[in-house]
Amino acid sequence: MSVRYSGIGMTSQRTRMRMIERLREQGIADERVLAVMNTIPRHLFVEEALASRAYEDVALPINFGQTISSPWIVARMTELLLASSVLRKVLEIGTGCGYQTAVLAKLVHEVYSIERIGPLLTRTRIRLRELRINNVYLKHADGMLGLPEAGPFEGIMMTAVTTQVPEPLLEQLIMGGRMVYPKGSRKQYLCVIERTPQGFVETVLDEVRFVPILSGIISK
Ligand code: SAH
Repeated sequence: MSVRYSGIGMTSQRTRMRMIERLREQGIADERVLAVMNTIPRHLFVEEALASRAYEDVALPINFGQTISSPWIVARMTELLLASSVLRKVLEIGTGCGYQTAVLAKLVHEVYSIERIGPLLTRTRIRLRELRINNVYLKHADGMLGLPEAGPFEGIMMTAVTTQVPEPLLEQLIMGGRMVYPKGSRKQYLCVIERTPQGFVETVLDEVRFVPILSGIISK
């Protein structure tokens, strides 16, 4: 860890434990998720000027008009994804700063994550390498197409909002697999889709707030 963060590092373990307590009070029950979030230095995923706010329960701006999801959202989406079984291979759409990616990486064997904004992904790649997270495969592409060459996946998580789940993503889900994502426009809800022998079954859950999914890629 670089020197400039060391001061914050001293207090962040305590701050992180308070974040975990808060998440528990807010209904997050999966101890695996809480344990992992207790170990990941969330302040290293935001700009230095915002590091002191990293453990508050808010979404914060990263670059390029995007946001890091709040701790509660990350915990909730992760626990929903893990609810079915032990997951081996997971696909994430919308890498952003990579915090959700890092949480997933500690809980499943392999994470594939797609981001459309190249420069954002470059920074995230460096950050994950510095944290020695090695079971993540990052791809600069339009995530709406999924990643057919690496699929099918036991779990898919989309961290940008859409009105309709892109068809290719559903196709890349194994039988029994599940996808967690926000749906809507003015009002948005966290949803889970499960692939069952009878078809896709969707459950609509908490009201949430996300940046939109956009097509195409940005290279510079
Ligand atoms: N999980 C991230 C959330 C970032 S916000 C975090 O907590 O940091 C959502 C991200 O989705 C943004 O980085 C945005 O650029 C990305 N995104 C939007 N549309 C996309 C698409 N079609 N393919 C890949 N990424 C996309």
